[in-house]
Amino acid sequence: MRIIMHIDVNNAFLSWTAVELLQQGYPVDIRTIEAVIGGDESMRHGIVLAKSPIAKKKGVKTAETLREARRKCDHLKIFPPNYPWYQKMSQKMFDVIAKYTPDFEIISIDECFIDYTLVHRLYGDPIAFAHRLKDEIYQTLGFTVNVGIANNKLCAKMASDFEKPNKVHTLWKEEIPEKMYPLEIGELYGVGKKTAMKLRELSITTVGELAHAEETFLKRYFKNQALPLILKAQGIDESPVVSESSESKGISTSRTFAYNLRELPVIYQNLQLLVEKVANSLRESNRYAKVVGVTIRDKNFKTYSHQKRLLNATSHTEEILKTVKELFLELWDEEPIRLLGVSLTGLTSSLERQLSLFEEEEIVEKSSSLDKVLDELKKQYGEDIIKKASLLDHNLSKK
Ligand SMILES: [Mg+2]
Repeated sequence: MRIIMHIDVNNAFLSWTAVELLQQGYPVDIRTIEAVIGGDESMRHGIVLAKSPIAKKKGVKTAETLREARRKCDHLKIFPPNYPWYQKMSQKMFDVIAKYTPDFEIISIDECFIDYTLVHRLYGDPIAFAHRLKDEIYQTLGFTVNVGIANNKLCAKMASDFEKPNKVHTLWKEEIPEKMYPLEIGELYGVGKKTAMKLRELSITTVGELAHAEETFLKRYFKNQALPLILKAQGIDESPVVSESSESKGISTSRTFAYNLRELPVIYQNLQLLVEKVANSLRESNRYAKVVGVTIRDKNFKTYSHQKRLLNATSHTEEILKTVKELFLELWDEEPIRLLGVSLTGLTSSLERQLSLFEEEEIVEKSSSLDKVLDELKKQYGEDIIKKASLLDHNLSKK
């Protein structure tokens, strides 16, 4: 039986800014007052990115406007996010973890999974170890984390979410009926708002009810998703912890041509074949890639390559191909080509989205909140950012 831990920073953005302020001599710990991290106020449309426990108690919600938040708190203090500082805090936490094991998978700026199975004999009781790790992070870095311990990633993630802050929880296989089945269906990790709503309409309101649902019945409403949903509710998850070291290996393929390629349509055809090959083996291993790379060797045997980090990890052939073509066009100096290569690195076993940068999961799930975030981006980067992107696409396909 595996032992997996999920480490999750409590209220990451607010905690990290609190640490920063205290280091600069700020007189209070903003975790203990009415405080939020919010977008640029001078732009007059900042939103709440994270809130202190007291602000939360007063009804402040992630993604609402700072004006709304101010209305709910008389003494609200607003601080801007400091992303470079957050990256630094995040890195320092992962450095602490890396001292103990290389077998951990970073899934967002403030979360990772540890495969404890392999170091169990070295460090002993997992609960004692989790406390030690949690306390070391707090003592050396000044912020608290929750640790969830279970037999797989799904349950570890659920466990770290139980009671906060600064807690260690277990959700072992045998504890699933007692600790997980009573939870409201929307609390099951990986079940979105829409799915939860549909399930409630079918009178499935708890995780336990979903765990015991008939697959044939659910199939009528959820098709191929019925069984994965039931398995999730039963706390079954076989996905591996994919550590940085296995990430860096990546998947790549290349092809040397008997004749030199000069025509773009022919080159694109070959890129497509290469992408299909790597994307297939990526999907076969149930993983997603965060970095796409292209290599070109020309008729003079000059070799050059170029990589691009994607906004979101993917295993989708079309998405990868699109990036590969972009990279190729940036790279190619129109010399006849002798070899083409495509590589996928930064492999991960989870489909974490870039928006998990935002502190609260509700921001990702609630589409209205998400719209607000998108609106915010549009305000910051210009109304036609989306139009520009599709125009770019168009130009590319015309070439
Ligand atoms: Mg967190």
